[in-house]
Amino acid sequence: MTALSTFTRIIADWEISIKDNSVVGRNKSNPNKLNYLKDDRTCKIIGCGNQINVRRTSGLCNNHLNHEHDLLLELKYNGVIKGAPTHKEIIDALVKWSITRNYNLIPLFSSLSFNVLGNIPDVTTLAEKVIHLGIPALLDLEDIFDNLIEVIENFFPKENNSSFQPLITPKGDFPVIVLAHIYVGLLLCEESNRGDRWFCRMVRKDESRTTQSGAGMSIGYFAKKTFPWGVEMKDEVLYRL
Ligand SMILES: [Zn+2]
Repeated sequence: MTALSTFTRIIADWEISIKDNSVVGRNKSNPNKLNYLKDDRTCKIIGCGNQINVRRTSGLCNNHLNHEHDLLLELKYNGVIKGAPTHKEIIDALVKWSITRNYNLIPLFSSLSFNVLGNIPDVTTLAEKVIHLGIPALLDLEDIFDNLIEVIENFFPKENNSSFQPLITPKGDFPVIVLAHIYVGLLLCEESNRGDRWFCRMVRKDESRTTQSGAGMSIGYFAKKTFPWGVEMKDEVLYRL
């Protein structure tokens, strides 16, 4: 079992690493309908060979219903591990701050939504445990993370002092730019661990089939907090954030 490679990005005195806990993580079920055409009787995981019912749209045998990879974010401050705030805690802190500053967060979240949803393959695909025919070469997770950092730097530039204002979260105070970096790292992990939008868009060519789990839930929480017309969100989704 080869884990996906760890990578680290540094912002001021903070280090953010994305690590793969492989099979000892809190492995999520693979939501992708790899046998959506209902034409295959063999588990789609490379090298497996177990037979499945042809109508089983997951295309996965009972041994492979869960991903064998689980990404998580590790945060260090001056070299010491520190608990990272959750999606919800970061959004709560950003929204509270934005109201006092009259800073409009909607463009940031729209950009993140555009750049995250459908662009991040699931962990099993990234680990090349399944083959998808006719898709362009995959970007490394590391490159995807750098693209997202570029997005947030348009809103919180490194050379601007305002990006380093401390915001209060239940996990302690963090500069706003650090919170934004942690947030995109969490989105990346969430989308890759739980999401199926990339598969629906790139392989199935029908994005409307997505279960909308993954990073979409987190961006949905921002929408729920921000828009007066309300966005329905189940409690089971909120507690994960
Ligand atoms: Zn299998």
